[in-house]
Amino acid sequence: MLAKSIMVKGIVQGVGFRPFVYQLAANLSLKGTVKNSSFGVSIHLEGSPVNIDCFLQELNLHPPQLSHIEEILIQPAEIQDYDSFNILKSTFTNEALTLLSPDIAMCPECLEDIRNIKDTRRSHYAFTNCTNCGPRFSIIKALPYDRPFTTMEDFKMCPACKTEYENPLDRRFHAQPTCCTNCGPELTLLDHKGIPLVISDPVLETRQLLKAGYIVAVKGIGGFHLICDASSSKAISTLRHRKKRPTKPLALMLKDRGTVLQYCCLSDEEEKVLLGPKKPILLLKKKNKKLPYTIAFDNPNLGVMLPYTPLHHMLFDDSLVALVATSANHSGMPMLYENHEALEQLATIADYYLLHNRTIHIPVDDSVVKVVLEEERVIRPARGYAPYTFHVDSDQVLALGSEFKNTFCISKQNYCFMSQYIGDIDTVETLRHLTHIINHLKTLYNIVPQAIAYDHHPHFWHKDYVEAYTGKKIGVYHHHAHIVSCLAENHIEDTVIGIAFDGVGYGSDGRLWGSEFLICNKKEFQRVGHLNYFKMPGGDRATVWPWRMAISLLYESFGEALDTVLPSYVTSNETAPLLSMLKNNIRSPLCCSMGRLFDGVAALLGFSSSISYEAEACIYLENLASSSPATEALYLYNLTETDGIWVIDYTVLIRDIVKDLQSGTLTCIISRKFHNTLCVFTLDLCQHLRQSFKLNKVALSGGVFQNELLFTRLHHLLISNDFDVITHKLVPCNDSGLSLGQLVIASELIKE
Ligand code: ZN
Ligand code: ZN
Ligand code: FE
Repeated sequence: MLAKSIMVKGIVQGVGFRPFVYQLAANLSLKGTVKNSSFGVSIHLEGSPVNIDCFLQELNLHPPQLSHIEEILIQPAEIQDYDSFNILKSTFTNEALTLLSPDIAMCPECLEDIRNIKDTRRSHYAFTNCTNCGPRFSIIKALPYDRPFTTMEDFKMCPACKTEYENPLDRRFHAQPTCCTNCGPELTLLDHKGIPLVISDPVLETRQLLKAGYIVAVKGIGGFHLICDASSSKAISTLRHRKKRPTKPLALMLKDRGTVLQYCCLSDEEEKVLLGPKKPILLLKKKNKKLPYTIAFDNPNLGVMLPYTPLHHMLFDDSLVALVATSANHSGMPMLYENHEALEQLATIADYYLLHNRTIHIPVDDSVVKVVLEEERVIRPARGYAPYTFHVDSDQVLALGSEFKNTFCISKQNYCFMSQYIGDIDTVETLRHLTHIINHLKTLYNIVPQAIAYDHHPHFWHKDYVEAYTGKKIGVYHHHAHIVSCLAENHIEDTVIGIAFDGVGYGSDGRLWGSEFLICNKKEFQRVGHLNYFKMPGGDRATVWPWRMAISLLYESFGEALDTVLPSYVTSNETAPLLSMLKNNIRSPLCCSMGRLFDGVAALLGFSSSISYEAEACIYLENLASSSPATEALYLYNLTETDGIWVIDYTVLIRDIVKDLQSGTLTCIISRKFHNTLCVFTLDLCQHLRQSFKLNKVALSGGVFQNELLFTRLHHLLISNDFDVITHKLVPCNDSGLSLGQLVIASELIKE
C-alpha cells in the first residue's frame, strides 16, 4: 500500500475533472479524496502501487476532453487509511490562479437529451448543458467557478437538478450552469416593438417567422445574432440594407455536416474543426452557387458554423437548413449582449426578438478560423477559444493591444491571459467596452498591473489610459509586436528574420510602416528592409478609396504625366486635386505599407469603388489571382541596399503592370504575376539576410498573410530553400495578435 498526493494544473475546473478522477479511482479500487483548489485539482490517492501507476497513466493519456493539463505534480504522502474515495468541498485562497474555460458548444449527449421526447425535463429545452458543454467564460462573474459566482445564481435548482448536480457519477455533477425546464432560464419571443407574443412555443414560432422572410434577433451564449433564412435573397438584401452592410460576407449557420457538404468543400482537417467542441465560423471553399450570391458575392469562401447551443439546434427543421447568423451590432459599436440594449438598438433592423433571461456577463463574439496548410489558423479569437492561456516569463503586466481588431493580454505568475476579440477601438463606446473587459479580467485574476505596454503611435486611442496610469509604461513598435507574437506562440527564443506585412503601423522614423523585414528577438529589433515609401493622399481617406492609392503609385512611377496611364474609371478632373496634394505634400503621409500597395494595384486592376470593410480590395486582388491559370511569370523589381537597409523599389513593378494592362493582358494573370513577384522578392531578400546575419528562421506575421495565395506560395518557396518558417496558428497574424507581442516585449524590457 502506498499514498500519493497529486496536483493537476491547467484547465481542470468546470470540465468534468473530479467525476473523472472519482470514477477512475473507483475502477482501480483506490481510496482517498479529490477537490478543486486555487491551484488546480488536488488528489490524495491510497492503494496498490500498480493501481496508482495505472491511475497516473490514464490521467496522462485520457483526461476529460475539455481539460487542458499544464502540469501534474506528484509527491509521496502519508497513508490516512481512507475506506472510500470522496469528492471534498473546494478550498480556495486569495492567490487564486485557476484557468478559465471558454464557452463550449453543446455536446452530443445533450443533443440526445433535447431530442428525447420522453425526457420531460430536457426535451426541447433550450438551456440544456452538462459538465462537458455549455456557457463558462461568458457567465462567470468571479472565481472560483461556482454557481453563486455565475449569472446562473438567479435560478434555484429544482430537486431533480440538485440530485444530478450532487451525484459524482452523473454527467451533470457540479455542472455549474445545469438546469431544466422546471428551474432554468426561459425564452420569450417579442415583436418589433418589444411586446411579448402570447404563444406556447417561441421556437416553433421563430422558425415560421424565419421561413416567412423575417429578421429575428436571437440571444445566444455570448451575445446577439441577427438571423434570417439564408435561402431567401430578399431576406438577405433586407438585412444588408438595414444593417448598412452592403458587401461584407455574412456568416452562415448550417443545420448539420450534411448541409455543409451540400454547399462547401470539406477536407479532413476542416471537418475536425467544424465538428469539434469550439464550433467557430470556419471559412470553407464554396462548392457551387446554390445559395444566394449576395451572402458572400465573389468571395470563393463561405463562413460556416454549426449550431452550438440547444436553442440554435432547435431553429432548424427539415425545410429550414441554412440561416444567416451575423453578430448583432451597429457598425463600429460593440456586439450587443443585454436584452434592453438589443431592444433599443436593433429597433430599425430586427422584426422580432427571441430573448432569454440568462444574463450574459461578458460578451464573446463568434470566432473565425481557416484551415491553411492543413492547420487551423485563427483569424478572430473569441467564443470557444478565449481566454487563451500562454506560459510567458511575465508577471503583472497589461498589454493594451491594437486600435483595430483589439485584444489585450494580462499576465500573472508566468501565465499570460489573452482576451477575446474586442473589435475596433474607434468610438467612445468601444473604448468603454474594452475598459470594462480589462477591469473584469483584472478582478477575476486578482491582478494589479505593475507595467503597461502600448503601441508607440502618438495619436493612439489609449493616450488617456496611458497618461492616467502611474506604473511603468512601455511603448512597443507595431511590427516588432507582430513578429514577437508569432515567436511567443511558437515558443521561439532565438533571433529571427521577421517579415511583417500589414496595413499600417507607426514606425521608429515616424512614418507608417507595413512591409517590414526585421532582425529581431523578443526584446529588440533592427529594421533591415522595406518597400520604398509612397504617399497616402488624404491619409485615411486613401484607405477607403483604393483608387487614391493607385494614383499615388502611378505618380511615383510615372511622374506627373499620368493621363495615358490612368484607370479608365477615373477622370483627370478627379485626379487633379490629388496630384496637387501629392506634389505639394498636403495631407499625404508617407507609408511603405504592403496592404496599401495591394489596394493600389487592386484599383489599377478594376476595383473602382470605396471599400466597405477592411481589406476588401486586397481580397479582390487575391480572388482575381486565384482565378488565373497557374503561371510562374514575374514582374521586375529592384532590390538595393544602403547602410544595411534593403529597399524594394515597386515602381518598376507598377510600370510593368501598366504595360500589361495596355497590351490587354487579363487582370487575373496580372494579379497572379503580382503575387508571384512579392513572393520572389521576399525570398530574394531573405537569402541576402541569411547570408549577412547567419539566421535561418523566418517568422511571418501581419494581416496581409491572411491572403492564402501569398502565404502558401511564400511558405513553399522559403521551405524549399531550406528556411525554417514560423507561422501563426492560435494567435491571429492580424492586429488581434499584437497584444501578446506587446506583453512579451514589455516583460523582457522591465527585467533590466
Ligand atoms: Zn453536454
Ligand atoms: Zn431543474
Ligand atoms: Fe498590423
